[in-house]
Amino acid sequence: MTTIKDKKKKEEIKDGEYLITYTRHLEKRLRNLETEKQLLDAERLRLEQELHSLRNEIDRLREPPLVTATIIDILDEKGRAIVKSSTGPSFVVNTSRNVKNEKISSGMRVALNQRTFAIMEILPTKLDPFVKGMEVIDSIPDISYADVGGLEEQLLEVRETVELPLKKPELFKRIGIDPPKGVLLYGAPGTGKTLLAKAVAHETEATFIRIIGSELVQKFIGEGARLVREIFNLAKQKAPTILFIDELDAIGSQRLKVATSGDREVQRTLMQLLSELDGFEERGDVKIIGATNRVDILDPALMRPGRFDRMIEFPIPNEKAREAIFKIHIRNLRVQEKILIKKLVKLTEGATGADIKAICTEAGMFAIRKDADSITQKDFFEAVDKVLKKTKNQFLNSKLYS
Ligand code: ATP
Repeated sequence: MTTIKDKKKKEEIKDGEYLITYTRHLEKRLRNLETEKQLLDAERLRLEQELHSLRNEIDRLREPPLVTATIIDILDEKGRAIVKSSTGPSFVVNTSRNVKNEKISSGMRVALNQRTFAIMEILPTKLDPFVKGMEVIDSIPDISYADVGGLEEQLLEVRETVELPLKKPELFKRIGIDPPKGVLLYGAPGTGKTLLAKAVAHETEATFIRIIGSELVQKFIGEGARLVREIFNLAKQKAPTILFIDELDAIGSQRLKVATSGDREVQRTLMQLLSELDGFEERGDVKIIGATNRVDILDPALMRPGRFDRMIEFPIPNEKAREAIFKIHIRNLRVQEKILIKKLVKLTEGATGADIKAICTEAGMFAIRKDADSITQKDFFEAVDKVLKKTKNQFLNSKLYS
């Protein structure tokens, strides 16, 4: 007989069990909710971060664009400076508080506020894309001294003044003389100036940088001086370097008294070139080779000691030189019979190395047109006729229209 007491006890036990189960259930629920809360907290944090970065992005996009400029001169310690903006004009401007005054110096690229023109930022001194894309050849595998014909004296002189100081600077140190910093190659177009410079770069395993004077002043108006500076920096970075400045007359012609803005631009570029030439060591491993067809109009300042102080003439090749050049260019061609080079030499009085190369290419073209396997003597004669007639006409035209 179960007493009422027992019944009550049983119920109490049941209730207790229920309570335990329920508590466990609640605990589990709580744990779940806590996990869920943690997940939601993490999600909130992520969204907050995203919001923050989107806000930043909006702020950044709303900022007015800055104007790039180059510092020309610093006027005082308070940060006043003359800048030349990329849009053209020059301004006297202040420097924003965010930029430390002592950090700015002339020649730096900076960003200006569009309204106040204050210097807001110093831009990284990246190389100009033009400078980067310039003809920089680390090694020139296919041009050696053997590819240069009939320029023995010139070769010797360039080797002494450019190759020797690069390869054996100690020789100059021992004797106590300073090798020339720059040599100037002058002579008619196509006489092998570039070819020789490339050959020296190859033989000395130097970086070869070629810049063309006329491009500096025509394509990059207002930028010539800056580019010259950057090119010299690049040359120093990549040393040993041979810096070849072709058409030097385009930047280095005599300074005239009547100066148009174009002349002034050329003069600024020249002044920069002169100061770069003066600014580095003779015994360093950057050598400058200048080339020009118009040595007569060059500014004498360029030829002062410590600048282009060695001048090497590249003459129109004589018979012996023409023979050597023909041999060089014919050596890789497929010719049918033994080509009478001496006859070609006789026919090409006054031709330059570039003409001779053109004759060989043209002879090859004649053979191709005939669908022949190799080039004949007749092809060469026809090519001489064609190339020299063409150059003669060019010469006549230039005389008529100059
Ligand atoms: P420019 O004043 O027009 O720059 P350049 O004197 O620098 O002319 P190069 O560019 O060196 O002339 O010559 C053009 C081409 O003519 C050379 O790539 C080469 O193939 C040929 N050439 C000129 N001179 C010689 C030479 N002495 N020996 C062999 N090839 C030559």
